[in-house]
Parts: sequence; C-alpha cells; structure tokens
Amino acid sequence: MTIKQYAVIGLGRFGTSVARRLHEAGQEILGIDINEERVEDAEPYVTHAVVADTTEEKALKSIGIGNFDCVIVAIGNDMQSSILTVSLLKELGIKKVIAKALGKRHGQVLDKVGADWIIYPERDMGERVANQLLSPNMLNY
Ligand code: ATP
Repeated sequence: MTIKQYAVIGLGRFGTSVARRLHEAGQEILGIDINEERVEDAEPYVTHAVVADTTEEKALKSIGIGNFDCVIVAIGNDMQSSILTVSLLKELGIKKVIAKALGKRHGQVLDKVGADWIIYPERDMGERVANQLLSPNMLNY
C-alpha cells in the first residue's frame, strides 16, 4: 500500500475516528485542533499532533500543510471556521480536501469554496444502516 501524508483538522469524534483508522492502516497522519485537550487526547491515534487555528493562513503555512496529499476538515459546528479552512487549503494548493458538512446549506458553500468531497456524517450513516438492513442476509433482522 502506498503511504500518503494525511492531515485531519478537528479532532472531535468524527475527525479522531478518521485519523485512528488511517493510522491503524499505517498511513502518516497529522492531527490538528485549536483545542489543546483534543490534541492531547488524539495523540495515541496520530503520527504527529499540533495545536493550531486553521483559519489563519500563517498557521497553515508554518505547519507545512502544502506538503500533504489529502486534508480532512472535520470541523462542523463552527461553520465559518470550516468554510474558511477549506477555502484556505484550496488556495494553498491541496489537491484533495475532504470536508464534513452538518447540513445542505453548509455543504453547498463547501462545494463553492472548492471542497473535493463533502461528507454528511448523519445522512451517510443513516443510508448505510438502511442499506445493510436491506441486504439479503439482514432482511429477517
Ligand atoms: P464531533 O461531532 O466530530 O465529535 P464536535 O461535536 O466536537 O465534533 P465540531 O464543531 O464538529 O464539534 O468540532 C470538531 C473539532 O474542530 C473540535 O475539536 C474543535 O476544537 C475543532 N475546531 C473548531 N474550529 C477550529 C479551528 N479554527 N482550527 C482548528 N480546529 C478547530
């Protein structure tokens, strides 16, 4: 498997679980959060972890974010920070920016600022559960 450089911004439940799975699969992960406690909690599941406000271009540049193959923006509730972060990452030339959206409008704006893949965690998980229930070996569940 090719080893890629990933960065996960926002180390809540969603961001940490993405980071943990990639880390288990042997990938290089940088975890980033504005909250020091979140960074400390995520340390076992990432290669490196830093405290930074990713709405600041200077902070992103000093992390060397331009060297990453793929950045996952797992900020949800603070919509402004999520949108600003995605927009800066695209300006800085990140090829693959994946972003979590809390709702349709949030997703539409993320699309406008250049997010390459938008994830709606609740909606996508709901669909996955329904699909599993509809699969032949689950129909009697
Ligand atoms: P989850 O649903 O994944 O548990 P959450 O409920 O903690 O997430 P979110 O608002 O989605 O809440 O935030 C995810 C993480 O993003 C938080 O740990 C938060 O500190 C971080 N975060 C918010 N703004 C920034 C920012 N500007 N720079 C870096 N990290 C940020």
